[in-house]
Amino acid sequence: MFDGLKDKLSSFREDAAEEVEEKADAVDTEAEAAADADATSADAEAAPDAVDTDASSAPTADEGSAVEPDGDEAADDESSGPGRLKRAAAFATGKVIIEEEDLEAPLQDLELALLSSDVEMSVADRILDTVREKMLGEARAQVQTTDQLVTEALHDALLDVISVGQFDFEQRIAEADKPVTIVFTGVNGVGKTTSIAKLSEWLDDRGYSSVLANGDTYRAGANEQIREHAEALDRKLIAHEQGGDPAAVIYDGVEYAEANDIDVVLGDTAGRLHTSNDLMAQLEKIDRVVDPDMTLFVDEAVAGQDAVKRAQEFDDAAAIDGTVLTKADADSSGGAAISIAYVTGKPILFLGVGQGYDDLRRFDPEELVDELLGEH
Ligand code: GDP
Repeated sequence: MFDGLKDKLSSFREDAAEEVEEKADAVDTEAEAAADADATSADAEAAPDAVDTDASSAPTADEGSAVEPDGDEAADDESSGPGRLKRAAAFATGKVIIEEEDLEAPLQDLELALLSSDVEMSVADRILDTVREKMLGEARAQVQTTDQLVTEALHDALLDVISVGQFDFEQRIAEADKPVTIVFTGVNGVGKTTSIAKLSEWLDDRGYSSVLANGDTYRAGANEQIREHAEALDRKLIAHEQGGDPAAVIYDGVEYAEANDIDVVLGDTAGRLHTSNDLMAQLEKIDRVVDPDMTLFVDEAVAGQDAVKRAQEFDDAAAIDGTVLTKADADSSGGAAISIAYVTGKPILFLGVGQGYDDLRRFDPEELVDELLGEH
């Protein structure tokens, strides 16, 4: 899962860590030179402004020639100024200050890696901003490895975008008045029906009963498709003739659940998005007639940017509460998984990770970030 992205993130970590290590070595050399120079002015005082005066009066000229035999003039120029002092002071406490120029090349590569992994542009920008903010001006303690520092920055940046809007789905089911009605929306072929079946099983595992209602009255064969799942799982299916009113089917599902003490109604809908008016009209009617507790958008991780765009369109048309992202097992890029929550402001709640009924994972942002960064 998301192997391509994992590899790219790992390259960024190596490159950024290498840059910082090189920087650390350079600072070590500078600071050693500065320290030696200090030692020669034997009467140096302990007060910080005395250190300032010492350093700015260019005491390193002699020592510069010791480090770099024929570069004393250039070394002298570079050694002056507050940046050098700050870094030398940081070295004295065992730290390295990271600056913009140290990260420029790795950050550019990271941006390319994210975009080529189908991460949406605004999400990639946000990730870069966070990494920059976390690392720049950061003083790396010598006890901390640079890889740790880079990994932490990347961890925080990814978590920031991935965890947008998260809520505890199970708790919401537990606390809601029963029956809880959940309507599923999304285009055909992405795994919507399978996800409904998987969620029914997921709920069953946690002690909640459910009934399936096929509000996809538009597509020929939709009833048969969902019936297969209902029979395999031994769940009740409410279905009407093709061409019937989707809101009426889901309403019947709710009535059945009320009459039979069923906890959750899982309602499929026809996922066409020819015009958002079609969808709006359909979902508005469902809203009016059954007032669902949640509307979940389903799409496939392998669709990458297209899935992100559709998530945005469906959310604009029908105010979704969250996303079920299917076929994560077959997705290498990870772009949709990283982008959808940030773009819609609504959380990814579940990942589909295979074709079996048990192949549904509660989406855990922290777990995903750890997986992407290889920290199992
Ligand atoms: P729908 O038209 O959106 O209802 O799509 P279906 O539920 O019929 O699924 C379409 C195909 O995708 C089927 O072959 C499913 O087995 C497959 N599928 C659904 N979810 C997943 C998943 O998480 N991983 C994989 N690998 N395949 C999936």
